[in-house]
Amino acid sequence: MFRKKSLSLMVVVPAVLILLFGGVVSFAQRVPPPEEVLGFKVGADYHLATYQQAIEYFRALEKASPMIKLFEMGKTAMGKPMIYAVISSAQNMAKLDHFKEISRKLALVKGLTDEEARRLAAEGRAVVYIDGGLHASECAPAQHNIQLAYDLLTSEEPDIRLILDNTILVLVFANPDGMDMLAEWYHPNVGTSYEVSSMPWLYHKYVGHDNNRDSYMVNQVETQNLTRLVNQEWYPLVLYNHHQTGPFPARIWIPPNSEPTNPNVHPLLVRWQNLIGCAMGAAFEQEGKEGVVSRIRYDSWYPGYVTQVVDSHNIMSILTETNLYRYATPHFYTLGDFPEEYQDFTISTFYPSPWKGGWWRLRDAVDYCLTASKAVLHTAAKYHAELLYNKYQMGRDVIARFQKEPPYAWIIPQSQWDAPTAALLLNKMILLGIDVYQAEESFVSDGISYPAGTWVIPMNQPFALFVKNIFEEQRYPDLMKYPDLWQGLVRPQMFPGAYLPPYDMAGWTLPYQMGVKVSTANTLLEVSLTPVERVVPPAGRVERGAGYAYLISPKTNNSFIAVNRILKKGGEVLWAGDSFSVEGKSYPPGTLMVLSRSVSRSFMDSLAKELFLTIGGTGGRISAKTYKLKTPRVALYKSWAANADEGWTRWLFEQFEFPYTNIHDAEVKAGELGNRFDVIVIPSQSTDAIVDGHKQGTIPPQYVGGITSKGVRNIKRFVEEGGTLVALNSGCLFAIDKLGLPVRDALKDVRPPGRREAPKDAKPPEFACPGSLLRMEFDSKHPVAYGMSEEAPAMFNRSPAFSILPSFEGEKGPAVIAKYPKESLLVSGFLMGEKYLQNKASAVEVPLAKGKVILLGFGVQNRAQPHGTFKLLFNSLYYSSAR
Ligand SMILES: [Zn+2]
Repeated sequence: MFRKKSLSLMVVVPAVLILLFGGVVSFAQRVPPPEEVLGFKVGADYHLATYQQAIEYFRALEKASPMIKLFEMGKTAMGKPMIYAVISSAQNMAKLDHFKEISRKLALVKGLTDEEARRLAAEGRAVVYIDGGLHASECAPAQHNIQLAYDLLTSEEPDIRLILDNTILVLVFANPDGMDMLAEWYHPNVGTSYEVSSMPWLYHKYVGHDNNRDSYMVNQVETQNLTRLVNQEWYPLVLYNHHQTGPFPARIWIPPNSEPTNPNVHPLLVRWQNLIGCAMGAAFEQEGKEGVVSRIRYDSWYPGYVTQVVDSHNIMSILTETNLYRYATPHFYTLGDFPEEYQDFTISTFYPSPWKGGWWRLRDAVDYCLTASKAVLHTAAKYHAELLYNKYQMGRDVIARFQKEPPYAWIIPQSQWDAPTAALLLNKMILLGIDVYQAEESFVSDGISYPAGTWVIPMNQPFALFVKNIFEEQRYPDLMKYPDLWQGLVRPQMFPGAYLPPYDMAGWTLPYQMGVKVSTANTLLEVSLTPVERVVPPAGRVERGAGYAYLISPKTNNSFIAVNRILKKGGEVLWAGDSFSVEGKSYPPGTLMVLSRSVSRSFMDSLAKELFLTIGGTGGRISAKTYKLKTPRVALYKSWAANADEGWTRWLFEQFEFPYTNIHDAEVKAGELGNRFDVIVIPSQSTDAIVDGHKQGTIPPQYVGGITSKGVRNIKRFVEEGGTLVALNSGCLFAIDKLGLPVRDALKDVRPPGRREAPKDAKPPEFACPGSLLRMEFDSKHPVAYGMSEEAPAMFNRSPAFSILPSFEGEKGPAVIAKYPKESLLVSGFLMGEKYLQNKASAVEVPLAKGKVILLGFGVQNRAQPHGTFKLLFNSLYYSSAR
């Protein structure tokens, strides 16, 4: 009943015959409609095109039309080529490099006067990046890419001609592996009772939904490819990232965004986002497409998203969330399905034509995506010269701002707790389009002297706001303090008088997460700087001969890679249980001692060089007690309720070369775990998902259920017989509840409900800490905290906190590895109700018969970002098999 005639653009398709480039290349073929290649119409019920099919179709388009060209940006995690299309008029396509160069010059500002910029802006084209399929289970956007390409290449509509003449579209499939996995999962289930079942694994080799939380960290190869495309090649004006989890019953969510907005964004950019969003809204009303909503739910605070990461690069980001039932299965909605507040079709400024229910099909979602994409392209086409100039202007303003006000630069000393990790941080910045330099000579800034070679990020660069955003401490704004400032905006899921939670994290300060020391220059820097293409840490070397043992610092994360390689080669490694000194040089507890009889000097030299490690040596035995390390046999629990934290952990193990085995429910239920493993790692996941898993009837039988009570008993037996259980973050609650540990979750009664769980009569929360960095104290004499400083910021993200039950305090009770201090906990983000965390433990070792449970009750490896706390997880693995 709902489908209106809204696709006049794709109805008239004349065969095209184009001769171009003085007759050198001819495109005499007819542009095939998608169904000729796919075998079904885009968005047809129960049909999803795979990535392979989509690319096959794009290749047919490339053969038939001079207005589209395909390029490869790199490979996916599973090794597929990531192909993207560029679409524009034939005239523009013949001069792509020229227009790319104009984009680059205007984005980078350097060397341009306003006058030259105006001339270039008038001559240039608006490069618009549009992607689909990042979140693969949100199917419509990737399918819409296919139809969008066809419509642009074949339409005779004046609006589309304007788009082709004035814009260059970079059209991207953001997650090719996921697109294929989804279609492969869905199609065999069509027509069965499992048609709309969740996929029991992540729709990316490692991170699933978190692929939209990786954008400032660029850990995953797809993120790296997209980042290079955007920040080093195309410098688009607009970046449009499609999603499909619109707030029900609205049919699509479009900008203007929700509050709060990120402060490190040029205000002109926010205005353009609003303007583009409103133009999209107008396009929907013109086409009679109802149910378009703005302003609620999706804010632009957190820069981990594909969209918000580019805002501080002066790229207007656009996010939309079309509505989704499940995959390509249609669904009929009645008024009874609507939340109460939507049942009377109340009209509002940002929801002027409420959706009234009816059928919703994949094709409807595709049509909404098409309207939205074309509106973005059309707006960019209309305003292309102004937008191009404004992009230059934003870069110019940012450069001017930081020539007049601090921070004038960020200074990153080479002398660090973990220097290779500091270099890694800077190389990520370079990948993200930031210019990094090295001081040619020593200098003084704010009274502090820095030697030659110190790394510097001057802020007089066009994307400097991005550096500020990532390096500074976040102060998430408090809604309760300034209600008028927020125009009374509330989220339906929250309570009266509650703070406005961010959609994702509140604080992310990357130098804190990575344990890297940085400082700001609050006065103008006077020092000669050399640009650096790739930051190289201070060279590693074997400092001295080792008659007895080589000594490797526990402070450097790369030490774990070194030790894993040494153990793999059969080298003997001891772990020092105390501090000690050799010829006046002191070594902390956790120092790794590689017996020289078991390794060659050349091998140690190569490790030092490749991993930038300074390796010491001792001629004789040391006074401290030692443990003998052995490659731990690691099991990583993998639930059929797909879990991104499991994927991140797996990815991290591979990066640091820890061998591991994924174990599923059946293996946990089968038992005999001690014969196979020294340690079982439980990722951050709810107890229900671990124990009960998917319910009967919701998914094919082989994926039903969790580890069950039998699995719980087997895990308990595994520990009692000498194994180690490591529970991460919310996974700790599973361990506490199911293993009966003498530890209590201190936040149990005050933890705020999830974003949409709050009952109507809920009271405002007394405690809230959405993804923030908190001060934490570590006992670096405990093996799990070896290599940590006594205090460091750590990531609280939906975390527990621990009180030890009084009768178990003391010698044989749980040992506190890390705890929250007694005051001033917040370093970045938002914390309400600090008293609930003060003096509470955040990581503990709980002995259980012959074994132990290590509760790491915060985000030690959250999204593979906090390099500063990875050690706790890695040490836990070694600790499980050290004797
Ligand atoms: Zn999404």
